[in-house]
Amino acid sequence: MDILIFWDRGAPAGLELPVSRIISQIMDIPADVRTSPVLYNGFDRNRNQFDATSILTCLDVFSRRNEENRFILLVTGDDIFRPSTRYIFGLSRPKTGTAVISSARLKNEYWGLPPDEMMLIDRLVREGAHEIGHLLSLDHCDNSSCIMANPSSLDDLDNKKAMLCPLCQQKLNKKKISITV
Ligand SMILES: [Zn+2]
Ligand SMILES: [Zn+2]
Repeated sequence: MDILIFWDRGAPAGLELPVSRIISQIMDIPADVRTSPVLYNGFDRNRNQFDATSILTCLDVFSRRNEENRFILLVTGDDIFRPSTRYIFGLSRPKTGTAVISSARLKNEYWGLPPDEMMLIDRLVREGAHEIGHLLSLDHCDNSSCIMANPSSLDDLDNKKAMLCPLCQQKLNKKKISITV
């Protein structure tokens, strides 16, 4: 199952190639990246954020209309939330094969720190690979250094290794075999 990465106009320019290449390496899946053709809604005026569940629904509609059978990961610069949370880094919908991640709070600038492009690439990779792991039916992992660990803060995200733990890797390999057979 290949990945189609949609880079929204508001997402950090110039990082699409390194980010998609490293995600593809970590998950060992071909990835294609292009400027996002999807216009999404879900803006919440009071919160000044987008509802990620609305974004996923727009991706689902796009996927159905275009008979797209690859996974779709949208990278946006907009700050996103899921009802009952203050904010999220990303969200996936394994049933339909769509996911979204936001660069808004992955940027050092958001937290009043000096910009760091390498760090931003790292974070986008970890968060993107995590959501794609969910699309491949991986659940959250108790191993805090695993890509599938559930980060509750930016520090958690930074403490992960940019790879799956042996257990998750094993699950993923099994899953891939069952897809190809
Ligand atoms: Zn997760
Ligand atoms: Zn794991």
